[in-house]
Amino acid sequence: MSVLRCAGLSRSFGALQAVDAVDIEVAPGARHALIGPNGAGKSTLFKLITGTMKANAGTVALAGSDVTGLSEVRRCRLGMSQTLQHASLFASMTAVQTVELAVQRHAGRISVLPRRRPQVRERAEQLLGDTGLAGREHVVVPSLSHGERKQLEVALALACRPTLLLLDEPAAGMSPAERARLVELLAGLPAEITVLFVEHDLDLVFALADAVTVLHLGRVLLSGSPDEVRASDAVREAYLGTGRREELFLP
Ligand code: ADP
Ligand code: MG
Repeated sequence: MSVLRCAGLSRSFGALQAVDAVDIEVAPGARHALIGPNGAGKSTLFKLITGTMKANAGTVALAGSDVTGLSEVRRCRLGMSQTLQHASLFASMTAVQTVELAVQRHAGRISVLPRRRPQVRERAEQLLGDTGLAGREHVVVPSLSHGERKQLEVALALACRPTLLLLDEPAAGMSPAERARLVELLAGLPAEITVLFVEHDLDLVFALADAVTVLHLGRVLLSGSPDEVRASDAVREAYLGTGRREELFLP
């Protein structure tokens, strides 16, 4: 059974059909990339999947259950998690305090009983370790590098023990070294966590993804293996006009 299945998912803004009858299926354990030129509808599709935005038509199913009518919070409780720009909200807190808060929130409480605090701390430290932030626990968020804040966002998203992790351009603004660390982090996530990510950097896409869906003008142009996508003339055509076509797909 697919972890995620969207059928006929659509969203318009006035006359603009930003997401147009999209079908997409994400297999358990997949590292599934969503690519497409700017304005293709990738972020809008993500919002329809997470419930941040309501669809005009179509359905979203998580592990076989229809979640189309559910709020973002309910979807999150069912195992769908996305990276958000939480980090800026907690400017005066340290990395570990920020993650502790996310761990507590997932447990459904704002404050924890004193005897439970060591467990929360332990879990937060573990998440920071898993996301490559061991040794950075007590650094306040604004003092983290851009790349480290992105790693922290992944730690926050993992705090709710997701089965499906959604990342919209996780490597945006990262240096090559930060990017390499992110690839390592994502590649090292346990197989129980399925990942759907939007990414512009095709090197990163082809380094990580085992499935790729190409969106163009709100529609699915192609879903397939990275090799199928690389070889597709239709996909190359879709990138025409970006001026970057040659470097996008040629080896
Ligand atoms: P992508 O993430 O692939 O670059 P988006 O999903 O952000 O594309 O946008 C798809 C199209 O929908 C674009 O033409 C964009 O201008 C438009 N769009 C996105 N969000 C809104 C909105 N809230 N209101 C109006 N138009 C929007
Ligand atoms: Mg976008």
